Amino acid sequence: MQYKDFQGEQISRLGFGLMRLPVIDDDQSKIDMEKVEEMVLYAVENGVNYFDTAYVYHNGFSEKAIGQIMEENQIRDKINIATKMFTFGINDPDFSPRKMLDEQLERLRSDHIDFYLLHGLQGKMWATLRDKFNIVQYLNDLKAEGVLRHIGFSFHDEFDSFKMILDEFDGCDFAQIQYNYVDHEIQAGDKGIAYAMEKNVPLVIMEPIKGGSLIFPDYPEIDAIKEKYGIGGLSNAELALDYVWDKKGILTVLSGMGNMDMLKENIAAADRSSEGMMTEDMEKAVAEIREVLEKTENIPCTGCKYCVDGCPQNIAIPSAFRFYNEGKKYRNPASQRRMYNRTCANIGDCVECGACSNICPQHLEIPELLKQVRAYIEA
Ligand code: SF4
Ligand code: SF4
Repeated sequence: MQYKDFQGEQISRLGFGLMRLPVIDDDQSKIDMEKVEEMVLYAVENGVNYFDTAYVYHNGFSEKAIGQIMEENQIRDKINIATKMFTFGINDPDFSPRKMLDEQLERLRSDHIDFYLLHGLQGKMWATLRDKFNIVQYLNDLKAEGVLRHIGFSFHDEFDSFKMILDEFDGCDFAQIQYNYVDHEIQAGDKGIAYAMEKNVPLVIMEPIKGGSLIFPDYPEIDAIKEKYGIGGLSNAELALDYVWDKKGILTVLSGMGNMDMLKENIAAADRSSEGMMTEDMEKAVAEIREVLEKTENIPCTGCKYCVDGCPQNIAIPSAFRFYNEGKKYRNPASQRRMYNRTCANIGDCVECGACSNICPQHLEIPELLKQVRAYIEA
């Protein structure tokens, strides 16, 4: 395993994301503990020491699972636990950061958390946490007490908000952003990496393989590009991970590993990772892969959401089209299924009233397209 120095500690370059664990009966709350325990122990034996969970992952059972595994195997001191305060309920009158933290410590069976993040921050959310909850002081007090060893935030907004948070969050030790070779110019993106380096804040990267989309199980054109540049032996997942490990300012790269094969492949890739590892040919291959992806035909929905309010069945129409387009683009409908099932479970309730099509500025035949989406994603 390769490591990165972080305030005198050695953090593994591969982080184990605990949000896509194997489950039983397709139920996100029923984690397959036998499999997960085997994977966690294998990861630890092979040098992985950063494990990333959150209050909401697997409906709270992700924190519980890793807590149980750490205690039963006496491996708490070999693991850096990163978990996140669920920030989406900040307007709820019962919202209490401290109550949530206590529950997390109990789930994790620990008296401290190594890396604590404000989850999925956006600019507006940050302003509320800063002004209404005095969150910077709150986190720094807990850090001084030793309950939280390092504090930071994960982020899903535009660069300007990222900059604002980094500028205002005194004591911020690290931040977590979504980044991969397709999404390198959205959200924080390349600019965010450069700014975080300027501020001396190391980054944890999530979605380096874009939730599995960059695996390309069925894409001969992409295989041909890799062959052309002499990197045919590199798996698509490895190429995606290498792209991120290559960058300066990255502490660790999270991969949401759902089975042992994936874990082994990622550990092997992490073993040979280094900053500056992308060759000229690898960069050229990535640029050509991007071009191929840009050319995919899709449903021309702009995401304007005009269709949403008038739908008597509350169907998340733009989300359904987005999942379809992403699945088509990466030729991997399975990579969209988890979020699709969460957001579009009622898509079959469409009564074909046509209210949505009448208002759609793109004149899309929405009820027919929804059938197309179902047939593709649910197949
Ligand atoms: S046609 Fe279907 S999706 Fe469109 S508004 Fe009616 S019920 Fe909703
Ligand atoms: S109105 Fe049309 S373009 Fe706008 S989100 Fe709905 S389907 Fe997409």
